[in-house]
Parts: sequence; C-alpha cells; structure tokens
Amino acid sequence: MTYHSWLECTRGCGTQYSIYDVIYHCEKCGGLLDVEHDIEALKDRSSEKWKSLFDERTRSNQWPYGSGIWGKKEWILPQINNENIVSMYEGHTNLFWARQLGAEIGVPDLWVKQCGNSHTGSFKDLGMTVLVSAVNQMLADGKPIRAVAAASTGDTSAALAAYAAAAGIPSVILLPRGKVSTAQLVQPIANGALVLSLDTDFDGCMSIVQALTADPTIYLANSMNSLRIEGQKSIGIEIVQQFGWEVPDWIIIPAGNLGNVSALGRGLLMMRELGLINSLPRIACAQAANANPLYLSYKTGFKEYVSVEAQTTSASAIQIGAPVSYERAVKVLRAFDGVVDQASEDELANASARADRTGLYTCPQTGVALGVLFKMVERGEMTPDDRVVVISTAHGLKFTDFKVNYHENALSGVETRYGNPPLELSADLGAVNDAINRAIR
Ligand SMILES: *Cc1c(COP(=O)(O)O)cnc(C)c1O
Ligand SMILES: [Zn+2]
Repeated sequence: MTYHSWLECTRGCGTQYSIYDVIYHCEKCGGLLDVEHDIEALKDRSSEKWKSLFDERTRSNQWPYGSGIWGKKEWILPQINNENIVSMYEGHTNLFWARQLGAEIGVPDLWVKQCGNSHTGSFKDLGMTVLVSAVNQMLADGKPIRAVAAASTGDTSAALAAYAAAAGIPSVILLPRGKVSTAQLVQPIANGALVLSLDTDFDGCMSIVQALTADPTIYLANSMNSLRIEGQKSIGIEIVQQFGWEVPDWIIIPAGNLGNVSALGRGLLMMRELGLINSLPRIACAQAANANPLYLSYKTGFKEYVSVEAQTTSASAIQIGAPVSYERAVKVLRAFDGVVDQASEDELANASARADRTGLYTCPQTGVALGVLFKMVERGEMTPDDRVVVISTAHGLKFTDFKVNYHENALSGVETRYGNPPLELSADLGAVNDAINRAIR
C-alpha cells in the first residue's frame, strides 16, 4: 500500500497542493494550509498493528525509524525518500512522573513531558526535522531554493540553524533584538546561520519574514508552514504511547503562536480516527498574562480574533501578540473541550522555581503551564483522580538569566518565594560549619 499526503486549505474550501509546492496560503480564500493524509490507505493496518509497529521502532538504530518522528513516518510525511531525511533522532523524550510536585499540590498522577531534553533544547526539533527534510527532498528534486528563513522567539531559530547546518542548507534567522536569551542567540550563530537581529518584536520579525518569503527561493520555516505542525503533532501520540496507549485526562501546554497546540490536537485526532484511542484528553492552553491574545479571545467564546501588543515577559518564547495559527488552535480547543488560562510574571516565576525545588529545571514557558496548573487545581478544575501531563517545552539551561534574577529577587513584577541565593563566606571551616548547622538540622 502506498501512503500519501498533501496540503489542503484549513478553511474547508477544498483547494489542494503538493507537499513540495512552495506555498503557505490558499490562493482561493487566503486560509492557511494543513497537511492531510489518505486515511483510507492508512486503515490497511489495524490499530493494534500500528501500535506494535510504532513500539518496535522506538529508539531502533534502523535509519530513520529510531527518531520519535520518523518512527511514525507513514503518519507524518510518507512520500519522502529516507536518504533525504535530516534527523537528530529527536523525540522520545522522557515522560517524568512528577511525584513530589504532584503530592504537594494533591494531583498524584502528575507528569511532565520533558521536550526540552532534545537536540537543540526545545520541542521545536520535532517539527524542524520534517520541514528541513522536505526542503532537502525539494533540493534533490531540483527545486531552486537558496535558503530557509524563520522569524523566531529563540527556539525555532536554534532548531532551524542546527538542522539546516546538518543538511548543508543556508538558513536565515530574524530575531527581535534583546528579546531572546543569550543561549538562544548563540545557538544559530554557532551553527553558521545568517543571524539578523532586528530592532522590533517577534510580530515585527514575523511580518518581515512573510514578505521576504514571497520570493519562492527563500523557504519559510515558521509554523504557519504546516510541515512543522506535522512533526510537532507526534507529541500527543508519543505521550499516549508512553502511557501504554492510554489517554490522560488533561494536557497543559504553553502557547504563543499557537502552532503547537494545533499540532497536539492533530496528532490525537488522527489516533482516534485510526482507532488507536477512543477518547480524547482535555487540553489547557497556558498564556503569559503579558502576551495573552488567545486568552482574551477565549473569554469572549472565541467570537473573534484578538491581537495585542505583547508586553515583556520572562516567558520570551511565547511573547507573541498576533498568533498566526489562531484558527487552527480554536478548532482544536473546541474539539477537546479546551480551556485557556494565563499566568502573571509572579505566578510563572514562582511556579517554575517551586517545580525546580522538586528536582526539575524548568524554563519560564513551562512555568506558565505550571502556574496555570496550580490555579486550576486550586479552583477544583482538576481533581486528585486526574492524570495530568504538563508539556515542558524547553530546557531551563537556555534561561540562565531568568533563574539568576529570580534567586536574586531581581525580576520585575515578581516576589521571589523560593529564592536560594548562595551564601558568600570566608574560606574558614568554622564559618562553613556554622552555615551548615544553621541551614540543616
Ligand atoms: C515555540 C514555543 C512555545 C509555543 O509554541 P507556539 O507554537 O508558538 O504556540 C512554547 N514554549 C517554547 C519554549 C517554545 O519555544
Ligand atoms: Zn481556501
């Protein structure tokens, strides 16, 4: 059986394109495009057969199936040649039982999906392997593409630069100057990308890159390009797989441009369509209160698209005021009986630090998701019986300034409640002993 996928208008007007066309919008109605699959063809394997195939391939060394993405190749990008795939064996990140944190808040079945434990330190690797592989295939087929370009809040650019470098494809990165962490700025520099640091915010970079990629020789790598979403949709599938194909009650995900929540939903819906699961989790979308357009729209029952001028937030990877994948995300939230909540700077920073005290090392975006979790539990919207998964989107090591400033009580709008600054002492055994005896009984 040959499996097949194509691009199709998200607004249901029926317009279709090839996966390998350089196009991001429907020419008829202007809607974004989604990757669609020949579901009838995929039904040639039973749900049990798909499960065992995916389980067998997990972490295997048979190229490219050991990747968390390419182990599910038939569901993601079936028609690509394996030799053109660009993969770092992304995915298969650990699903951490947050035993101590869960016990503290009264949700013993609490899990943190550690997507930051990945090649470039964020879950952007999941989608970027698919996009860069597709470009590599297009180049092999003789398409005249000079470079791949993306606007970024820091993690997309790190992933793009790494995967493009691995494939020998030039990459162009547009970053909002002073609004990404030092680690995130250095990552694409190290990988040899052309890094353009612009005097604007993410939304400003996004509109420039959209204009730039009207030139078909510069390929757009932002998540309005649904090839990214296809890779990122593996996250929901992988979580269910890690629970032995059981569906959790809740998944909480931090959200900015809204590509990732859309992807999470797509993967789970595909599993249901192919019979691997027969229920859906509920999804909670977590936004920083300083960049909360989806939250504001949710409050009106998604009556209309809302954009805001995003204010500074420590959760800089989701400091986005005009989310591109709004329509996709609303569809998903409706299908999953979803909710949207927000966390203030004080809530996200203290939530992140509280989780760190239980052995995690959370990025500020994960702090937003945790802040929302804590509030939902307090309001009784999650109960002690619920199995809850928090998607941790990046590694905390990318956000050192955030951590240092928190522990020095120097984050604006934050009252540090879990601070643990180092004690500065003279090199004197008595002083050291005194300090230990004061701190530890
Ligand atoms: C990209 C990103 C998000 C949000 O994903 P969107 O698709 O922009 O909603 C959250 N956390 C981190 C660390 C990210 O890099
Ligand atoms: Zn259309």
